[in-house]
Amino acid sequence: MIIGIDLGTTNSLAAYYTEDGPKIIPNRLGERLTPSVVSIDEHNQVYVGRSAQERMALHPEEGASLFKRSMGSKKEFHLGNQCFSAEELSSFVLRSLKEDAEHFLGQEVTEAVISVPAYFNDVKRKATKRAGELAGLKVERIISEPTAAAIAYGLYEKKESSKFLVFDLGGGTFDVSILDYDDDIMEVRAVAGDNYLGGEDFTNLLFEYFLEENHLDISDLSEKEKTYYRNQVEKSKCHPEEDGSFRILATVNGDKIETFLSRKEFEKKASQLFDRIKQPVRRSLSDAGVRIREIDEIVLVGGTTKMPAVRKYVSRLFGRVPDTSVNPDEAVALGAAVQGAMKERKESIREVILTDVCPFTLGVEVAVKRENNRMENNHFCPILERNTVIPASRSEKFYTLYDHQTQVEIHILQGESRFASNNVSLGTLLLTVPDNKAGEEEIDITYTYDVNALLEVEAKIKSTGETVTKLIKNQDTDMTMEQMQARMKELSYLKIHPREQEANKVLLLRGERLYEEATGELRDALEAVTRQFEAVLNRQDPAKIAEARKEYGEALDWIEEELWTF
Ligand code: AMP
Repeated sequence: MIIGIDLGTTNSLAAYYTEDGPKIIPNRLGERLTPSVVSIDEHNQVYVGRSAQERMALHPEEGASLFKRSMGSKKEFHLGNQCFSAEELSSFVLRSLKEDAEHFLGQEVTEAVISVPAYFNDVKRKATKRAGELAGLKVERIISEPTAAAIAYGLYEKKESSKFLVFDLGGGTFDVSILDYDDDIMEVRAVAGDNYLGGEDFTNLLFEYFLEENHLDISDLSEKEKTYYRNQVEKSKCHPEEDGSFRILATVNGDKIETFLSRKEFEKKASQLFDRIKQPVRRSLSDAGVRIREIDEIVLVGGTTKMPAVRKYVSRLFGRVPDTSVNPDEAVALGAAVQGAMKERKESIREVILTDVCPFTLGVEVAVKRENNRMENNHFCPILERNTVIPASRSEKFYTLYDHQTQVEIHILQGESRFASNNVSLGTLLLTVPDNKAGEEEIDITYTYDVNALLEVEAKIKSTGETVTKLIKNQDTDMTMEQMQARMKELSYLKIHPREQEANKVLLLRGERLYEEATGELRDALEAVTRQFEAVLNRQDPAKIAEARKEYGEALDWIEEELWTF
């Protein structure tokens, strides 16, 4: 079975396809969302999800979150005394989801469709694929999140042809996509986005306000205090008051403090963030050549679209209420599962051909000859324009610049600027050409973008017929198969915390965190209930443990509520 996975910035989840449509796979705690958080203890035990989140509050230096933003980059995350890349941390999340899926489905799961933001470039997509492989999954397809979401909404089942806009505001990324469904072909017409805009920015805004109001200087705060305050701010962000205002409850210097922000003030403070939403919306519409009124449906995806202020803004921007019939947290995973089923050619599913576009323009660096025969370097020559439907292949001809030039360096670039140096360098390809006069040697460069949005560059020297091909690799982070296997072996000593013990561990970690937050009688109560629970755990009687877990959980709920009753 091919499962669908939404590997999110904040939360990840998996889904599978049934005769009744796609369904979410609950994780080891019976929950639908697994926080994309990883923590490692001194025994090399890896915690993923809620337990990792609880550990983050206690040992922030041993955990990491929001690593999806750094996917494919050289950034190193230090967890205790170990070092990991974003794709390695993601592979732990995927490993945990895979284990949960296997347990739930009662069969081995080795294949998956994994989603990525439409705006993810080639390097980030490849890193995501590798994360899947490091987790022991064959990644059948990398699917763009908006395409997956549109499939989940079943928009293709409603009408013979329609146009829709997917508005996806997650934890760390923002994507707008225009899709066109016609005659069983689902085509992404255009994508635009901002890789650095998401719910975290709204949390940051509230966090800064909270610090300011309470005269707290961030440089004076310990990692633990920062994590605690941020968690309190995050809670308030996700549970605003009926009128849209925010109440942040936290203990500051031993006092229980309530920090209030009205809806109006919040909207004023967030106006710059809202302004940043407009630009990708405009660009996607203009690239697709579509007017707002021609859009049949607006679909909301991503946790941040649950914010009332965001919904209101979207309604105003488009002059209509968006479709929210599918949970915005789940749409992408459900769509990825449907795509997995389509790949398996499940009979009960109407097969839809998905087409995607390349999110960025891809080209080469060239020199331009000026009037006085002066060569000017640093120019960008596009080969595959952004929003070209993929798979796609385009060729351009180039010529040698100088007499006796025997080497040509092809600098492969991605971006929209006229100047090479403003665009992102994806790699170089070095060619040896026959010694000849300037302009006499022709080189045909072909860029091919496959359905997974992976780029292959081919350069052909016309006179000799010699061809050099390169699958674009990120020089800094790409791995060969051998390197990958070696790294998998290295990582294999890190075991994901056993799933059977996860529920107990989450509670014990929560108890530990609450102990640090509480004082006096509540602390005594915590100590007593925790000891009781530990005693039952030691007796190793599963039925008794289940009963005690329930009681301990209820006791913690009560204590947490007491802690925050003002
Ligand atoms: P995603 O990347 O789609 O999982 O989105 C995660 C983001 O959604 C995080 O920044 C969360 O804080 C935010 N989020 C999740 N639920 C809510 C909610 N009910 N209200 C506001 N923001 C939310």
